[in-house]
Amino acid sequence: MEAHCLGGFREVGRSAVYIKTDRGVIFDYGTKVETGEAPLFPKLRTTDLFITHGHLDHLGSSAYLFRKTHCNVYTTAATSDYLDLLLRDALKVAKLRDLPIRYSPTDIVALRRSIKKINYGDSIKLSPSTKVEVWDAGHIPGSALYVLNSQGKKILYTGDFKLEPTRVVAGARFDVESPDVLFTECTYSNREHPPRQEAEKQLYAAIKNTIDNGGIALLPVYAVRAPEILMILNQFGADWPIYLDGMAKDATNIALAHPEFVRDIDELHDAAENAIQLYENEERNNAIREPCVILTTGAAMEGGPIVHYMKQLYTREDCAIIFTGYQIPKTAGRYLLDTGQYILGAINLKVKMKILSFDFSAHAGRSELLKFIQKVSPQKVVCMHGDYCEKFATEVKSRFGIDAIAPKNGDVIRI
Ligand SMILES: [Zn+2]
Ligand SMILES: [Zn+2]
Repeated sequence: MEAHCLGGFREVGRSAVYIKTDRGVIFDYGTKVETGEAPLFPKLRTTDLFITHGHLDHLGSSAYLFRKTHCNVYTTAATSDYLDLLLRDALKVAKLRDLPIRYSPTDIVALRRSIKKINYGDSIKLSPSTKVEVWDAGHIPGSALYVLNSQGKKILYTGDFKLEPTRVVAGARFDVESPDVLFTECTYSNREHPPRQEAEKQLYAAIKNTIDNGGIALLPVYAVRAPEILMILNQFGADWPIYLDGMAKDATNIALAHPEFVRDIDELHDAAENAIQLYENEERNNAIREPCVILTTGAAMEGGPIVHYMKQLYTREDCAIIFTGYQIPKTAGRYLLDTGQYILGAINLKVKMKILSFDFSAHAGRSELLKFIQKVSPQKVVCMHGDYCEKFATEVKSRFGIDAIAPKNGDVIRI
């Protein structure tokens, strides 16, 4: 058996691993969001693609791979809905930003039609000697981690995961012991996340403070993150207008449509009912006449309704822009966070609003990663999806005495 490292090795973005058995199985086929880069194209025949979850760095190039290979595609129902939303939006963004375009709307439709929907606990038989188990990765609604069993070997591929629960999902649940190889994300191998409850309290206080002072709390969110923020606001008893805009609306509706992937669907329903959905600039301008909180895409501030709000609010010292997710380097959001300047195309604004950032990561923190590796007890660890993969591999090796590596894109691992 062989594993081909196609993307997401020693980097975050465009995750993809090809496993050669009697089948040609690929786990994830993402895009590097900042540059639009796809993973390497598989050198051997691809028979099956398993998508872990609804983020572009894991599925952004899947429509392209499908058009080229017509492989079987497996994922959960929630991920299938996120895929449609994200791939359509990525096409728009690619056109605006002059990024490479590798698929068409027709390819998205064809891909979605062919998706075989799977559930946690399923075991998918690909051939008499090869099967793939599906487990809950605890990252976002519908996120899965996969175990490939073939030719007497067991390979665990995590995608992105989190052991601790969030408001929306219950944390990873799996029954996997001693795989021959573990492909693990290590996004936060270098640091811990603050306790969730603390982060929630601080976020709520910052929003409340802004509104009490007559301002507007503007939250540029990743679409899939919106339900969690809504639930926090609801839980703490927010009694001011809450608006939902851009793809944050669609992603919330997708989570509501898949109760089987949400920790407490009644709580999410309650929270979503309190939020008002906005569609037109006139509605947006009316909304910001009074103190309120607005959750909108794009999280990286590279497009979407957030741009309109920034143009209206950037001079107001009583307002706050509040980040709740990782800001990708070289994006407008990251630049604003680092410098206080909002630059996007011809837009160049010196922002007077308060700029705040809170850690609501849906990834395992450092000690969760170590705990996970110890629990799973693999023969070999392959570190990927991180900026410090080599350092983490060295640490895993010395701490647990397990063979651990951090290969490069293009490397082949013999199993
Ligand atoms: Zn993810
Ligand atoms: Zn990821």
